[in-house]
Amino acid sequence: MKIGIIGTGYVGLPTGVGLAELGNEVICIDREISKIEALRNGHLTIYEDGLEELFKKNVANGRISFTTSMKEGVENADLVIIAVGTPPHPVTKEADMKYIHAAATELAEHLRGYTVIATKSTVPVGTGDDVESLIHKKNPQADFDVVSLPEFLREGFAIHDFFNPDRIVIGANTEKACTLLRELYKPFEHKAKILCVSRRSSETIKYASNAFLSLKIHYINEMADFCEKAQADIYEVARGMGLDSRIGDKFLNPGPGYGGSCFPKDTNAMAYMGRQNGVVLSLIEAAIKGNEVRKEKMAERIIAALPDIEAPKIAVLGLAFKGGTDDCRVSPAMSIIENLIKADVGAITAYDPEAMPNARKILGDKIMYADDAYSAVKGADVLAILTEWEDFRHLDLARIKSLMRTPTIVDLRNLLDPQTVIAAGFTYSRIGQVATA
Ligand code: NAD
Repeated sequence: MKIGIIGTGYVGLPTGVGLAELGNEVICIDREISKIEALRNGHLTIYEDGLEELFKKNVANGRISFTTSMKEGVENADLVIIAVGTPPHPVTKEADMKYIHAAATELAEHLRGYTVIATKSTVPVGTGDDVESLIHKKNPQADFDVVSLPEFLREGFAIHDFFNPDRIVIGANTEKACTLLRELYKPFEHKAKILCVSRRSSETIKYASNAFLSLKIHYINEMADFCEKAQADIYEVARGMGLDSRIGDKFLNPGPGYGGSCFPKDTNAMAYMGRQNGVVLSLIEAAIKGNEVRKEKMAERIIAALPDIEAPKIAVLGLAFKGGTDDCRVSPAMSIIENLIKADVGAITAYDPEAMPNARKILGDKIMYADDAYSAVKGADVLAILTEWEDFRHLDLARIKSLMRTPTIVDLRNLLDPQTVIAAGFTYSRIGQVATA
């Protein structure tokens, strides 16, 4: 199948590479010239596990190419996938549709023959209708269907998730469009449920899913707070809960609050859609508020762990919103650091294996950046672990202790083994458990 993908970011690029690997002919389109130039020169513009190898392979065999030209990417395509951003509106927090509307308007004049336009971006209910009318207005002769094709990949696991989907949701109002997409996903039909629903249901499935996952995270975080006070153990509680098949054992890991480019924005957009439709989504509203407060509380925990000395120093390990990605958008680490800066409690030095360039764009020179974990902790009074990078599990604790001024660790990702850390001579705190030797 010939496929044009509009938007070559965290969704568009792994999707393009994955579809090329399945044997399709893919052209990725982006309006950012520097991004397309880098990709044409063989340089990846995002970090994703396993992406580089497949990218190089499919560039070499000519199945994927990159362009800034909408015409080039769209005119021969059987399928055009829209994967542009839908960021939150700064005031109302509704999903901002300007990139979607621009993409729909720009692609319209280049359509030739029957084409399916599939929206992979996360979009409010009714967007498919808007895209359809924008294209029709610009090119009344065009023969096309607009489909909702929500993306469920997890950043950091984008390639794994592309090849191992739980489900593929196709929101199509015509049989013809649904058949084309079923054909595209045929290689997965033995392992994933392929669900064909109406376009509006499909658009809702994506938001309802992300809001539910956010609620689940917020719930276990509140239970973790309770466990600390009640001297229970959140992992024992989560295990006991998760054995109930109605609850399930996934997404019951406590942490510093949900973040990233999707959960915060999608919960806000869903709450907004609820209000627009006269439906109060009270659980979602509560989770949004609670999750914000949580990040302030996390900063307070770090401050409380500082010794009462002049000019204390904080070392931060982890800046990305989770391990396995360089993405810092709405990262809990960014909010926690911003709160620490606001409290003006001391100098901060941070390290992240992949996310420092992106973090620097957000935090600038308000903090210092180290070349590795050991340089970050030099002279520090508290080490705060904010992202669950696998490398941080295997730190040389004796070396860390010899480098720190005060051996205190606040582990907001519960990465370290409490007994080992305490035996190594640290004061140690974590989420949802009272750490004991
Ligand atoms: P992104 O910002 O990484 O990428 C979007 C790209 O689209 C950018 O490179 C931008 O330059 C390009 N673009 C914007 N308008 C364009 C136009 N008119 N023509 C050509 N290119 C254009 O965004 P992302 O993280 O890939 O997210 C894309 C969508 O997918 C969002 O709606 C998001 O909510 C959804 N989504 C994201 C994830 C995720 O994990 N990131 C997961 C599921 C769904």
